Amino acid sequence: MLAPPAKKTSLAESEATMKIGIVGSGFVGATAAYALVMRGVGREIVLVDKALPRAEAEADDILHAVPFAHPLEVRAGDFPDLKGSQLVILAAGVGQQPGESRLALLARNAAVFSDIVPKILRYAPEAVLVVATNPVDVMTHVAATLAERLGLPRSRVLGSGTTLDTARFRAMLGQHLGIDAHHVHAYVLGEHGDTEVLTWSLVNVGGLPLDHFAATTGICLSEEVRQRIDHEVRDAAQMIIAGKGATYYGVASALARIASAVLGDQRAMLTVSSQTDAIAGVEQVTLSLPRLVGGAGVLTEFPPPLNADEERALQHSARTIRDATDSLSGAF
Ligand code: NAD
Repeated sequence: MLAPPAKKTSLAESEATMKIGIVGSGFVGATAAYALVMRGVGREIVLVDKALPRAEAEADDILHAVPFAHPLEVRAGDFPDLKGSQLVILAAGVGQQPGESRLALLARNAAVFSDIVPKILRYAPEAVLVVATNPVDVMTHVAATLAERLGLPRSRVLGSGTTLDTARFRAMLGQHLGIDAHHVHAYVLGEHGDTEVLTWSLVNVGGLPLDHFAATTGICLSEEVRQRIDHEVRDAAQMIIAGKGATYYGVASALARIASAVLGDQRAMLTVSSQTDAIAGVEQVTLSLPRLVGGAGVLTEFPPPLNADEERALQHSARTIRDATDSLSGAF
């Protein structure tokens, strides 16, 4: 005789559940959920959006990919359903319009965060917060400040920052060199935006400094080639938005990578955005540097040695973010 089926226990009730909340289930939030399912990060995802039918539709659609991917529970919910989340991704806000700078989105998105950050922390006070909303460095500063007022250390709030730009740099260099981007170590620092800094002096391919690699392989890395790659990385978002209205696959993959580093306490080196005491002469500024990311969020940071041009560019980037942050004074 067959044994009776075991009582159904929802994953939400299971003690081992690794739960991820996503607030803002538009292009970026929903694609992040899809990327988490494809990578098998976490066990349960709750999608929250002020437009509940949108969150429900996205959750259903993504749940139907589970049999082809990893065993996650995906559902829509409201802020109370974030209870028990170890990580919450913030992707709520308004998308960038063609030609609109990220900094122009600032005031609208700061108001959204003043609304959602306290609601998230009311139900998930232990969560690490990962911000995607643009302008992401300033929004990370806003979220960290709001969270700090509610007792959460700033190190538990991080922004996707230049993880996406770093991936673009590695992808485009890998394409030019004919090498798998996994073996191209190249970092974009500073602002996720117009002033970001491609740190060419730090690039290595499988441990070989880039100039040495180019000299031994005969691959052209002239100033003209470097400028073309710089332009394609820096302006990637504008070019993609001009073509299809939004960018989401790249950032969603970056968010899933960050989530796996946090949930797995992996001590991964990622160019996430967080507040630094001082960089390139600018104090208390939230920007991307190589940082160690683990279960508690940002564990430490490693400001790298840069050449004089890169140092100047990083100072300009830091100053730009600091000015934008200061312009919000008293607004949240
Ligand atoms: P979208 O308009 O598709 O989605 C935003 C969602 O947020 C909408 O579904 C909206 O209903 C929801 N929302 C707004 N206010 C809310 C609130 N108070 N509570 C709950 N939900 C709320 O936009 P998108 O394309 O998904 O972009 C989202 C954000 O991500 C934008 O700020 C965009 O610029 C940014 N983005 C960041 C990166 C990055 O690398 N950091 C890359 C691409 C896009």
